[in-house]
Amino acid sequence: MDSTTSPLEAVRARIAAAARIAGRKPTAITLVAISKTHEAPAILPLLAGGQRIFGENRVQEAAAKWPPLREAYPDVALHLVGQLQSNKAEEAVALFDCIHSLDRPSLLTALARAMDKAGRRIPCFVQVNIGAEEQKGGCAIADLPALLAQARAADLPLAGLMCVPPASIEAAPFFALLAKLADDNGLSPDSGGGLSMGMSEDFEVAIQLGATHVRVGSALFGGRA
Ligand SMILES: *Cc1c(COP(=O)(O)O)cnc(C)c1O
Repeated sequence: MDSTTSPLEAVRARIAAAARIAGRKPTAITLVAISKTHEAPAILPLLAGGQRIFGENRVQEAAAKWPPLREAYPDVALHLVGQLQSNKAEEAVALFDCIHSLDRPSLLTALARAMDKAGRRIPCFVQVNIGAEEQKGGCAIADLPALLAQARAADLPLAGLMCVPPASIEAAPFFALLAKLADDNGLSPDSGGGLSMGMSEDFEVAIQLGATHVRVGSALFGGRA
C-alpha cells in the first residue's frame, strides 16, 4: 500500500485478499466500521469513501452522533455491537438496523416487545460468551439452544452468532467453535445465518474461518482515547 491509500481502502483490500485465500467471494463479507468514541470529522472520510455500515457500542452515544450524519447519508445502516440494557430496547430498535449483542432471555423479551410496538423487526446476532469469561457479555454455550428457540418462537429475525474471543490469546479456535455452534444450530452461512467475528487484530483469520461480518474499529480510525 502506498501512502495515498486510505485506511478504508487498505482494510477493504485485506478483506478481499483474505476472502480469496479462503476461496470465498469478498462480497460475502460485510465490513462493519466501528466508530465508537469517534466524532463526525473522523467518520465523514469513510462515508465519502462509500462505507455505509457502522457499529456503535452505546445507545446514547449513537443517538447523539448519528442523526445529522444520517440526514446527509440516508442509506447508512447502524449496528449495535455493545451490551444492551433491556430498558434501552425501544431506543435501540428505533435507532439501529441490526443488533449484535442479544445474549439473554430478558433482553430477548424486551426486544421482541419493542419491535412489535415499533412495527419494525431488525435482525439480531446472538452473542456467545465463547471463552466462558465471567466479566464478558454473551450467552453461555450451554444456554444457546434455549435462547435460539425462544428467539424463533418470538419471531425475532436471527442474523446468526457473534463473539468476542478472550484477549491476548489466539482467537482462531474460538472462531472455529463459533462456526461449529452456528452449524449445529441451523445458523450456518449456507443456511442463511451469519458469523459476526473478527476485529482489527484478527479479522483475516476470522474470514478464513467463515466470518460474514467483521467489526473493525482501530484499523480504520486509529486508536481510541
Ligand atoms: C470496539 C469493538 C470492536 C472493534 O475493535 P477494534 O479492535 O478497534 O477493531 C469490535 N467489536 C466490538 C464488540 C467492539 O466493542
